[in-house]
Amino acid sequence: MNEELIIGIDRLKNPSLNKSTAFTSEERDKYKLHGLLPTAITTQDTQLKRVLANLHRQESNIARYIFLNSLQSRNERLFFRLVSENIKEMLPIIYTPTVGEACQEFAHIYQQQKGLTLSATNRGQIKEVLQNWPHKDVRIIVVTDGERILGLGDLGANGMGIPIGKLSLYTACAGIHPEYCMPVMLDVGTNNVSLREDPLYLGLTQKRIQGDEYLSLVDEFVQAVQEIFPKALIQFEDFLTPNAYALLEKYRKSILCFNDDIQGTAAMALSGVLASCGITGHAFKDLRLMFLGAGSAATGIGDLIKLALVAEGLTESEAVQRLWFVDENGLICKERDDLMPHNLPYAHEQPMLSFIGAINHFKPHVLIGATGVGGTFNSKVVKAMCKHNEHPVLLSLSNPTSRSECTAQQAYEWSDGNVIFASGSPFPPVTIEGGRRFIPGQGNNVYIFPGVGLGALAGDASIITDEMFLIAAKTLAKQVSKTELLNGTIYPDLDNILDISLLIAEQVATYVFEQGLNRSPQPGDIKKVLQDMMYNTIY
Ligand code: NAD
Repeated sequence: MNEELIIGIDRLKNPSLNKSTAFTSEERDKYKLHGLLPTAITTQDTQLKRVLANLHRQESNIARYIFLNSLQSRNERLFFRLVSENIKEMLPIIYTPTVGEACQEFAHIYQQQKGLTLSATNRGQIKEVLQNWPHKDVRIIVVTDGERILGLGDLGANGMGIPIGKLSLYTACAGIHPEYCMPVMLDVGTNNVSLREDPLYLGLTQKRIQGDEYLSLVDEFVQAVQEIFPKALIQFEDFLTPNAYALLEKYRKSILCFNDDIQGTAAMALSGVLASCGITGHAFKDLRLMFLGAGSAATGIGDLIKLALVAEGLTESEAVQRLWFVDENGLICKERDDLMPHNLPYAHEQPMLSFIGAINHFKPHVLIGATGVGGTFNSKVVKAMCKHNEHPVLLSLSNPTSRSECTAQQAYEWSDGNVIFASGSPFPPVTIEGGRRFIPGQGNNVYIFPGVGLGALAGDASIITDEMFLIAAKTLAKQVSKTELLNGTIYPDLDNILDISLLIAEQVATYVFEQGLNRSPQPGDIKKVLQDMMYNTIY
């Protein structure tokens, strides 16, 4: 429908067209808005001040989340301007850690549908359901089945908060128009009994479908997307690890898709490790890295670091020797018979060791936590890392904050301020005894996926490769300034996220054309294509 024909109350109720009190006098004439708005005509800047003041009046993060959620439903451009101009403040509200709480409470705070729900009961009709989506040129889909939401486990249909949040970040951090974005919840039931028994729960109140029944439903969705939204990139998000790997392996070579928990996390972590070399003085190719946790996040990081080490001249087996994993049952080693397929390449010829034993034996320069279990980096662990390194690198990646392997305060205190620390969820600045102050970095995937997605769209890529994540990691690492490195920070200032995403997108799109992965002819000027794609939040 021609947008100019949307007038009166329909214009005010349309979040992408609504400017509320900022409609000018001429616009009020043209769109028949007189009487439907107060007399004063305000600028968007004034509106921003008002919403920010009202946001600050909210007493809890979940109240702030609900406030922002309803602003997004009323006035999309104001919402995205608020978020992108105040990204450091807004990120912890619209994404981790608050999004975790919002998912847990999803059915209780629900106001309005923001994404597309595909239920197991829609089998055979997925194509028709996709066609119900109001926008016809979808370019980015973030999909979850809610089975491993952050580190919070199976939240079933409540997991919808994740695709909604991630897609808001695509717009706020990479300027992708919200109409290109479609959040999808694959509601296949939940094994979380308390959810099934909650009278307000909004999903299927049955156990999860599994095996072929599950895979064929996902396949119906993936194939239907190829037909209805052929240009769309599918981002798999927060699937349980075996499914995450199975789906990625099944589709990565033929469908435009990636798994953010595996590949996005990997690039984010690799970038932090690369940047840390600027502080420690170590050459990246000489590093030894240990992981606590051997699930999708840790193994994804290991796989990309292996690729990066091979690119530095190591053989694959030399690279594998540099990567050790410890999970809840101990060291990933050949003598174990309980390993998952993705662990096998990293099972070393090494007798079983405890976590601390493994640190003392292997002497890693870098320790990366992705367990989903808070408190697993205790003082003994941090002190053992300090015994072998002047400046050990500690990435405590588990989300939300309560699941972080250790807090920033603990890491700096236990290491006497010597650790180079970053975490998945944000921590406030830390002051330790003696008055030294540290600003911990946040290893957030938001540094990576919006840029990679934008680059893939700009290049009209047919598939997403691991090399694109390698490019993204290297590009990101170069954005950390000398001053930031001197202060021990290994991620760049989030205030620069739009520029960072554009740089990553340009590099990724260039790679797409160089490798012939593009589905449309190469444009003369990639930068201009990217600039032209930018969503304008200002009115
Ligand atoms: P997963 O369930 O696939 O893996 C968890 C791993 O941790 C398993 O190998 C398990 O054996 C191990 N583990 C559990 N308890 C342990 C313990 N006490 N000691 C040692 N190992 C233990 O989960 P995942 O997808 O790999 O995600 C793990 C965590 O990483 C989650 O909290 C998630 O939020 C976080 N994550 C963070 C980011 C980020 O910060 N950018 C990105 C992705 C995932």
